[in-house]
Amino acid sequence: MASTHRLESRALLLLFAAAGILQAAGGFVEAEVVRIESLTRDVKRIRVKFPAAYTFQAGQFALFRVPGKFVEEWNAKYGTRHSEVRRPYSFASSPARLPYADFIIKLVPAPPGKDVPPGICSTWVHRYLKIGDRVEVGKPMGSMAISMDSTRAIVLVAGGAGVAPFVGLLEYWFETGVNQRRTIYLFLGVRQRQNLILHEQLTAWARGKHNFRYIPALSNPVPEDQWAGETGFLHSVLDRHFPGTLDADALLAGSPAMMQETERLLKSKGIPPEQIHHDPIQVQVP
Ligand SMILES: Cc1cc2nc3c(=O)[nH]c(=O)nc-3n(C[C@H](O)[C@H](O)[C@H](O)COP(=O)(O)OP(=O)(O)OC[C@H]3O[C@@H](n4cnc5c(N)ncnc54)[C@H](O)[C@@H]3O)c2cc1C
Repeated sequence: MASTHRLESRALLLLFAAAGILQAAGGFVEAEVVRIESLTRDVKRIRVKFPAAYTFQAGQFALFRVPGKFVEEWNAKYGTRHSEVRRPYSFASSPARLPYADFIIKLVPAPPGKDVPPGICSTWVHRYLKIGDRVEVGKPMGSMAISMDSTRAIVLVAGGAGVAPFVGLLEYWFETGVNQRRTIYLFLGVRQRQNLILHEQLTAWARGKHNFRYIPALSNPVPEDQWAGETGFLHSVLDRHFPGTLDADALLAGSPAMMQETERLLKSKGIPPEQIHHDPIQVQVP
């Protein structure tokens, strides 16, 4: 209970810190959409081309601003009162590929049984964005930075589209040789096999990189999945994988519930809070 409160207070602190950063963050730039790929039924990878001066660090995120005309039409259709709509998305590629950068974006539907509109920004990205369009993207924010002067293992824990920043970080670490003396584990949790994101690429990395282990886990496998791998929620998968204590740097990305459970588990294994990192659970934007 006490640890849940500590996590909530930390999340609030991060939220307020992020809100502060956001006030300072004007400066949207226009990036051109150059590629759109469906990675799963409800996840797309969007590649954009930034203006020459734009840079970011691996693991950061930036705000997308939904075009005003789309917001007006949305308000008219659903009776909502959005003014400006901005949502954070993580860079899902290495900065070395600038001026190109990828984002991995999941379509967010209305919660089951609720008579409310679906997610506005993800609907715009999935249903309306096309190649050649220009997206307004804010300055890079946040940091998934971990200590670099360590040989501890690195444990990345991603729920669904939460894998986005880790794809960017891994790409960056592999191409620069950073962290090559550390064992890097990526735990990716999704419901079923069809929801796995970039499974082939991650499997190929696990085969080709001596220090990288990829552990996909399905929470609700169906017989057609013919799945012999890990099952269950990520915190229980981690618990089985690392029985006993663990010393590692951990980065988490995904739903607040998943991050909360995982953070609790990692702390119970003896990992100090300063070695567990995640983006703000929620970034408050208009
Ligand atoms: C730091 C950070 C990084 C992120 N990176 C990524 C990423 O890389 N990829 C990714 O896919 N996502 C990412 N996200 C999540 C992303 O920012 C958005 O939150 C997500 O795309 C949903 O935005 P939306 O505008 O589509 O949904 P919203 O419009 O914000 O709606 C969210 C949910 O609320 C419901 N809703 C709408 N109106 C109501 C109402 N009146 N009452 C109750 N419920 C309602 C909607 O149906 C929907 O289910 C990140 C979030 C953070 C904080």
